[in-house]
Amino acid sequence: MAEQTNDFTEWYLQTVQQSELMAYSAVRGSIIFRPDGYELWEHIQEEFNKFLKKEGIRNAYFPMLIPQNFFMKEADHVEGFAPEIPWVTEVGDEKLEEPLGLRPTSETTIGNAFSDWINSYRDLPYEINQWANVFRWEKKTLPFLRTSEFLWQEGHTAHASKEEAHKRTMNVLDEYVRLCEEFLAIPVYKGQKTDSERFAGAVDTYSVEAMMQDGKAVQAGTSHYMGTNFAEAFDITYLNKENQHVYAHTTSWGASTRLIGALIMTHGDQNGLVLPPTVAPYQVVLMPVGPWKKNPSVMEKLDEIFSDLKEAGYRVRMDDSDNTPGYKFNEWELKGACIRIECGPRDIENGHVMVKSRDVADKQKVPFEQINHFVAEELAAMTPRLLEKAKKRIKENEYYNVDTLEELKIHIDNCQKEGKPAGFVLVGWDGTEETEEAIKEATGFTTRNIPFEAPVKKEKDIVSGKPAKHTVWIARAY
Ligand code: AMP
Repeated sequence: MAEQTNDFTEWYLQTVQQSELMAYSAVRGSIIFRPDGYELWEHIQEEFNKFLKKEGIRNAYFPMLIPQNFFMKEADHVEGFAPEIPWVTEVGDEKLEEPLGLRPTSETTIGNAFSDWINSYRDLPYEINQWANVFRWEKKTLPFLRTSEFLWQEGHTAHASKEEAHKRTMNVLDEYVRLCEEFLAIPVYKGQKTDSERFAGAVDTYSVEAMMQDGKAVQAGTSHYMGTNFAEAFDITYLNKENQHVYAHTTSWGASTRLIGALIMTHGDQNGLVLPPTVAPYQVVLMPVGPWKKNPSVMEKLDEIFSDLKEAGYRVRMDDSDNTPGYKFNEWELKGACIRIECGPRDIENGHVMVKSRDVADKQKVPFEQINHFVAEELAAMTPRLLEKAKKRIKENEYYNVDTLEELKIHIDNCQKEGKPAGFVLVGWDGTEETEEAIKEATGFTTRNIPFEAPVKKEKDIVSGKPAKHTVWIARAY
């Protein structure tokens, strides 16, 4: 495996393939989600569906093919997505009358349906979510993080007022924070995107941004307030209490299989995946060690432990293959099994097993009668422990002391010399695209988001030196 500290991207590419999360497909930039990779997504789905159910947001499904004229209705939207949409133009040897685009997102097709379904203020709020595949023919791709076809959830809601729509936009943003931090142990920075990074057709875009171990950013989820832009384009009007036809205010929000990439880049180590038990396909792996084949009592005990843990609802795996213990340790570390339980003839005599947690260096002895209790406690402790570790790391890679473009360049050079990540840098911004362009041109850093409460308020724009309108996080991003 490539050295994680030397070539992080290569380490990542090897890890996601060797751990069998994904494989490359014959289609450029599209990946195969192998069962272990897909299972990570299934657990994310289960968790997010709980939120949707709690909020009364129903799941629905819309066609993947979208008529060309739908895209034309919202000018910014079509301009933003046009370069990335693949088109279906013929069937057999017949040309279609109207090309059909493979959805890059579904505001258009859902907006069109909303215009039929929403008529009165009594129909509002109208709130749905779709789990789907989407296509964005990206120029540069990276497994999970940026693929030409990916899986996601996209929520679409319509409301009677700006206030209600804004409330939902923020409520989902908070849910993304919770999902990332409490469920996936990925600490995130929440804030508002700058105009140039805003979703095509939105009024306001908010994001949660995560910092990977190499200091680069991953945009982990976005929530958009659309104003009445899509309502005007698709005629989503309703009769209000005063009997007037008015436009609805809409929102949309999405998180994708990119979260899997963020998960791996946040927690993985030189030996492979480190996964929080909330999503890990293998929470406990049992294996016999020593001369176990000559001592049937070893497998008898392990079978008993296996049944107990399975019964308790854990995702348990028995590795009684003929591979050497060393081989098994490596394999299950690579695949991110949370807890490894070893048992050999001597352990049987002493009445305990040897246990190792994936994220802790030492093994420990656990008496037979305490195994169930230990597993329960350890699995519950692991996710918060991973979150704390990740939080500590990102704090070490946050910088507040950069005031000019020159200082930013020096900061990046120094980090490179010292072999540490350049991380997230908090800078002043006068609100112009010129500044964003200049930063990008000189350093490859882009604006991530404007925090609602900046830890330090910056007074001057990093490039122009003019009074700063905002304090913004900048970083290199995946
Ligand atoms: P958007 O509709 O552009 O706001 O995207 C919603 C979310 O999908 C983003 O916040 C990303 O996390 C994710 N996403 C966008 N593009 C891709 C891609 N090419 N591959 C994987 N995930 C993506």
